[in-house]
Amino acid sequence: MNKPISNDLPLQFIKGIGPKRAQVLAKENICQPLDLINYFPRDYINRDSSFTLSSLSKKLFFNTDNIFDYEEDFKNVEYSFIVDVVDKSLKNLRNRRKLLTLTVKDNSGGKAKINFWANVHFFDNSYKVGDKLLISGKPDKSKFGISFTHPEIDKIDSDELKEFKEEGILPLYKLPTSFIKVGIRNRALRDMIRYCLNQHLTSVNETLDKDILVHIDAPDIQTAIENLHFPMNAKLLQLSQKRFKFEEMLFYQLAILSQQDKFVKSEKAIAMGKSITLAKATLKSFPFELTNDQKNALNLIWKKLNSTIPMNVLLQGDVGSGKTIVAIVSMMMAVESGHQTLLMAPTEILAKQHYKTLQSLLPDSISTELLVGGLSAKDKKEILGKIESGLTNIIIGTHALFQDKVEYNNLGYVVIDEQHRFGVDQRSLLKELGKKSGDNTTVPHMLLMTATPIPRTLAMTKYTDLQIVSINSKPTDRKDIITKVRFESDLTNIYEFIKDQVKEGRQAYIVYPLVEESEKLELKSAVEHFELLNNQIFPELSCGLLHGQMHWKEKDEVMKDFSDKKYDVLISTTVIEVGIDVPNSTVMLIENAERFGLSQLHQLRGRVGRGEHQSYCILVASQKYKQLFAKNLSDIPTVKRLTALESISNGFELSEIDLELRGPGDFLGTKQSGMPEFKFIDIVNDKSIIREAKEIAERIIHCGMHNYPKTAQTYSIHEKKGNYITVG
Ligand code: ADP
Ligand code: MG
Repeated sequence: MNKPISNDLPLQFIKGIGPKRAQVLAKENICQPLDLINYFPRDYINRDSSFTLSSLSKKLFFNTDNIFDYEEDFKNVEYSFIVDVVDKSLKNLRNRRKLLTLTVKDNSGGKAKINFWANVHFFDNSYKVGDKLLISGKPDKSKFGISFTHPEIDKIDSDELKEFKEEGILPLYKLPTSFIKVGIRNRALRDMIRYCLNQHLTSVNETLDKDILVHIDAPDIQTAIENLHFPMNAKLLQLSQKRFKFEEMLFYQLAILSQQDKFVKSEKAIAMGKSITLAKATLKSFPFELTNDQKNALNLIWKKLNSTIPMNVLLQGDVGSGKTIVAIVSMMMAVESGHQTLLMAPTEILAKQHYKTLQSLLPDSISTELLVGGLSAKDKKEILGKIESGLTNIIIGTHALFQDKVEYNNLGYVVIDEQHRFGVDQRSLLKELGKKSGDNTTVPHMLLMTATPIPRTLAMTKYTDLQIVSINSKPTDRKDIITKVRFESDLTNIYEFIKDQVKEGRQAYIVYPLVEESEKLELKSAVEHFELLNNQIFPELSCGLLHGQMHWKEKDEVMKDFSDKKYDVLISTTVIEVGIDVPNSTVMLIENAERFGLSQLHQLRGRVGRGEHQSYCILVASQKYKQLFAKNLSDIPTVKRLTALESISNGFELSEIDLELRGPGDFLGTKQSGMPEFKFIDIVNDKSIIREAKEIAERIIHCGMHNYPKTAQTYSIHEKKGNYITVG
């Protein structure tokens, strides 16, 4: 239902807007002149822009292979150019239809055709040879060159051109279709915003303290706003952008830090670890000494456990760096002080493995229970009873732990392995557990572990309230895994290589991706390959099959058989990604490697190289990629991803590249909620601004500087459209 036109839309009285446009703007939450002023450009274009029609043409007509055919990333990109109309033609087509074509040229000399099939008369009357246009659209490639079909066009008249200050930088605004329907394009927005700036800019109040402005070398708010819309020059534009990025991050950090401050003040945990005889004895029972990184991590965890401030630590380190060992020792501190401890794993296989590890490492006096899906009703009831009565010290399980009604007894410590795979915010977990522990006065301490290191910028934003501890060194001098990118045509040789390795007594993994999201297809693909490999390619070897559709008991059996060397080759889907530890396997062959993400490939690779023998990771990509790799086209994401794995073994470095390639949303996975959407900040590229804002926010919160904590409370981090001008 359309809203009735009313005086509540003050914008309608502005010249060039009127009631109809005002309504459309209101739907995008632009109701007041200040909202229009806050509608900042999504991008800019320069008369002498470095990305020209010539460079686009190079990109599109890239030799004989068209990267469009390979990479989704290159499709659907919108480009903008400032061009002159150099030719115009009107053709009659069949069915009395007409085609209008403008030939345009930009400063680089690059040309393109602009085609109009609809409203031909209107466009014919609108544009003539000699016009200067700003065009934005998705290019098509034809044998005549680049063309655009009905792109977005703004005519730039000579009067306006004069207004574009020193360097001719033009703003490009986001234009929802609703805007375009009522004729609001860049040109119209520029006019409206210019009008609003003239009328209202002087009434916009400063939001940052003078000291801070000086400190970060930023322009005042009015100058910054004006330059975001109509940049005087590139330098001022950059400083103005920095100002708003900084401001956004500062308020975000202040909001999080003050929330955390409140949490720490309101929630209490039980201090544990006063006596650590049990932890020390456990340490002594290991056949090895902890590495320095492990010792440091353990010391920090001990200190945090020994406090009534709820611990919130993320322990990160590559697969095999010894995180679990650290966690186990810290769990002994909780057990010794009489508290139940939870160890949560993302998969049943991994939960089982942890259970076994604990049983082998810990004395019988410590009672551990495994809580996973698929238990018989009787077993489950018995286990739950033991947990409730407090007979159980340590409970190991998958997140089934949270779905069932488990009554804990004096729960004090929760360890979550591979935290990122749960897709759950740890704070909401805490709340759940706090309630479930039957103790309303305290929350448990939390230790999160991950083998997918968190890139620094994410650590400073999404995980800003976690204390991150890293284990960088590996416990033993393991050989680097030799990693190579190969193609389908190489498979015969690779299979021979696997046979050779098996002859030497080694074992191998062959991993297939999910063909589709559907689990049925996954099953089909793994099963089909299994038959082929088992019967035709490796008739003389023994092959096992592992996939997500199997019952956990079956999976377990296969894993155990592989571990006992009953199989030479394990054919699998990604279920083996975490938790399999078979030091005798030396080959990880990943098929359709282009379908996996960087972190996932790195995790899979971590399944080999766990013993004394040289290990290999072979990434097999589809044949069509061969030429792209041969030319080393590293701006193609797949090429970049796979070649990064060939040369880099460090998980921290890889995670930074992964974030860069995928962006924060994808990196965290769609399931992950809670990644703030920033209006100005670019998580990947604004590292130094993020760091600076975080430092200042910490100083403000912890040293009580200025009045900013008050300001931060008025800025809600969940509100995506924070209004930066009226904050305070
Ligand atoms: P993560 O959980 O980081 O993958 P684990 O704690 O499971 O690593 O350790 C991997 C392997 O290394 C295990 O077999 C473990 O017993 C062993 N390990 C752990 N710490 C050390 C150490 N300091 N010295 C030698 N071996 C270690
Ligand atoms: Mg582990």
